[in-house]
Amino acid sequence: MNQPRTIPFGRPWITDDDRKAVMEVLDGPILTHGPQCKAFEAEFAAFMGKDAHAVTMSSCMGALHMAYFALGIGPGDEVLVPAQTHTATAHAVELVGARPIFVDCDPATGNVTADRLAAAVTPKTKALSVVHFLAIPCAMPDIMRVAAKHRLKVIEDCALAIGSRYEDRHVGLFGDAGCFSFYPVKHITTAEGGMLVTKDKAFAESVARKRGFGVDRTHSERSIPGMYEVPQLGLNYRMSELQAALGRSQMRRIEENLSRRRRNFESLKKALEGQGAARVLDSADPRQKSSHYCLSVVLEGKLAGRRNELVGKLNAAGVGTSVYYPAPVPRMRYYADKYGYDASRYPEAARISDCSVALPVGQHLSPEDVDYIGKVFVETVKEMRV
Ligand SMILES: *Cc1c(COP(=O)(O)O)cnc(C)c1O
Repeated sequence: MNQPRTIPFGRPWITDDDRKAVMEVLDGPILTHGPQCKAFEAEFAAFMGKDAHAVTMSSCMGALHMAYFALGIGPGDEVLVPAQTHTATAHAVELVGARPIFVDCDPATGNVTADRLAAAVTPKTKALSVVHFLAIPCAMPDIMRVAAKHRLKVIEDCALAIGSRYEDRHVGLFGDAGCFSFYPVKHITTAEGGMLVTKDKAFAESVARKRGFGVDRTHSERSIPGMYEVPQLGLNYRMSELQAALGRSQMRRIEENLSRRRRNFESLKKALEGQGAARVLDSADPRQKSSHYCLSVVLEGKLAGRRNELVGKLNAAGVGTSVYYPAPVPRMRYYADKYGYDASRYPEAARISDCSVALPVGQHLSPEDVDYIGKVFVETVKEMRV
């Protein structure tokens, strides 16, 4: 600790190759509707694995909204939504006029479980959503059995989970749609951007049409420029060619990115062993292969109520932190005002929101940074406990 550092929670990894890729698009004539998005989709689908189709989107929120819109979920329908997630997971349901029914999480991983989801199904339930919390994959085979039993559509929020697999299948390919985010602090970035993946080719094509206003012909399919028909409702959730070029360039380093995260996570987890004040959110099940978005610790015992104080001390020592997520979504004001908030229903989600600190393990950290974070954390909680 004699060597003060400033370690941000997240920092985009932008290289000269990335800059060059973006500049090449800017120097050309095509800024949207072009070959970069098509190539990014093909390359992303190849990374996902067999049978994957990918559609570039303007954000993960857009991809989630699109998924419900394209699946025909709407007024009168209920959708199961994790209480512990980003507000986007729930907003997407609200935006199509359906009602989110919040489900509490497993305390060890922060993920929803098949049992908790099954208990919340009613005759109005049309879909369930999961979030692979902090890149820890949900137990999807069990969850898919619940969905099959009740004939529910399944939407996977994979915003934090590129590279995350259950057994050998990439998350996002279990359900009807998987939605990824390329926001700056996520694993890879296109500044803003997202991807919708699906195993269903026809669904991917339908989403691609709806993404561009629902018109029936793309630019290259028009025999007379400017002429098209509009057989359906749509949105404009397209990604630009600049973003797609950046995304492609970022994907070329995805394995390096993931392996640095794994190294950082494992060594930070080890450094935190035995401190006795906090437990690490993680899965002990070898089928659940996390891609390590961050390392979140839930404070226990006397420190549980002193999270904000700990954050202040860590930040003062140069350790960047975050909170995933700041409140269970049903406690956020929009949802609490609309549906009321019954705290007794989401104790585990609330514990994570109120008592956890997310520590960085991103590709931007050196092994020395990780050692420093571990030392500062252990010493700080020790001081706070005396
Ligand atoms: C960041 C995040 C989103 C939103 O992603 P955008 O690309 O910014 O729309 C959605 N869900 C989860 C779980 C997230 O962490």
